[in-house]
Amino acid sequence: MSTFQAPKGTYDLLPPDSATYLAVREAIAGPLKNSGYGYIETPGFENVELFARGVGESTDIVTKEMYAFETKGGDRLALRPEGTASVLRAALEANLHKGGNLPVKLWYSGSYYRYERPQKGRYRHFSQVGAEAIGAEDPALDAELIILADQAYRSLGLRNFRILLNSLGDQECRPVYRAALQDFLRGLDLDDDTRRRVDINPLRVLDDKREYVQKQLTGAPMLRDYLCEACKAYHEQVRELLTAAGVAFEDDEKLVRGLDYYTRTTFEFVHDGLGSQSAVGGGGRYDGLSEMIGGPALPSVGWALGVDRTVLALEAEGIALDIPAATSVYAVPLGDEARRVLFGAVTELRRAGVATDFAYGGKGLKNAMKSANRSGARLALVAGERDLAEGVVQLKDLTSGEQTPVALDAVVDEVRRALG
Ligand code: AMP
Repeated sequence: MSTFQAPKGTYDLLPPDSATYLAVREAIAGPLKNSGYGYIETPGFENVELFARGVGESTDIVTKEMYAFETKGGDRLALRPEGTASVLRAALEANLHKGGNLPVKLWYSGSYYRYERPQKGRYRHFSQVGAEAIGAEDPALDAELIILADQAYRSLGLRNFRILLNSLGDQECRPVYRAALQDFLRGLDLDDDTRRRVDINPLRVLDDKREYVQKQLTGAPMLRDYLCEACKAYHEQVRELLTAAGVAFEDDEKLVRGLDYYTRTTFEFVHDGLGSQSAVGGGGRYDGLSEMIGGPALPSVGWALGVDRTVLALEAEGIALDIPAATSVYAVPLGDEARRVLFGAVTELRRAGVATDFAYGGKGLKNAMKSANRSGARLALVAGERDLAEGVVQLKDLTSGEQTPVALDAVVDEVRRALG
């Protein structure tokens, strides 16, 4: 062990488990790539104001969890705690919305940072794959994103997840509801922090998990009763499209989510095998965000799915992904001349697209064969001086133990044939 350890709240992804993480990322990205979403990558840090304005001054993410710092040049930056604000910033900066081809559909994959109290499923560094559809107000777009996330989870074999759905209203009906909710909340017995939250973002009080708060919320006005006709109709269409697609969901009137920028459709994917950190992904519509960060009106919708928690969900359901062995062929040279010749064959095989590895470090036969078996390879190529004198190498099937000599210049063809 070295003197150093991974920082608190972080962990390293190591083989072979790391292959599952890659597979999860790919499984989530697959349906997006297949549906008109283009890949976007933005910096790991941004101007801290982008998040303060974009995510919301009153959110835990901004007030408590941001890794904010000042650079030597005096810039105030923060490690990104989430993806949406950065993606929208980048799209606006590059004028992607001006081509007349809306919505701009983008997907991303990367590391995010929040200074949280670490526990299982909650880390200070975590991975998300996300998608944003910028610049269109269309219930089919909201439905599309939910359907694609559902498809991704199902393609991984996950079954014990649920989709929670709600509408948060728009700039017309939400303020009326907000005022009614504030009236109600101000009559409750709440601590100072929560009372401040009532002033700044009362909807989030509904999301408070503490029992003494939840107990007092019975009888609170519900947003459903305040939604304007346009929001109701919009939400009904999203629900109908999901139902027609065979995607089951639960209406959850209390779902508000932790970020300030959501409007109308909001949703969360929860997995029932994860204990307290049950949200594997979530998202919603954020029609006002562009204007909040200085852009034009661009109604948009998006989601982010957590890779770490999706992997935990797979474990909870006992699902082992079918990940092909990284190596198909393992080459074992016996002696210096064999080393030179086999290394050449390895290079040739790799160029032909066959996953091949080599016994480095001058291992003896026994050790080298152990490594070959551990690599998961189906075939070994073994050669000693006598083989080379005859112009052959031995092709060994590591499952049956069967061994056949093959001509040196036919190695690629013979290996391909043996692998099927
Ligand atoms: P949020 O932006 O908070 O809605 O997060 C979207 C998804 O990212 C969540 O559903 C989680 O799967 C994942 N996520 C958020 N925060 C963390 C964290 N601290 N550790 C691990 N995963 C997280």
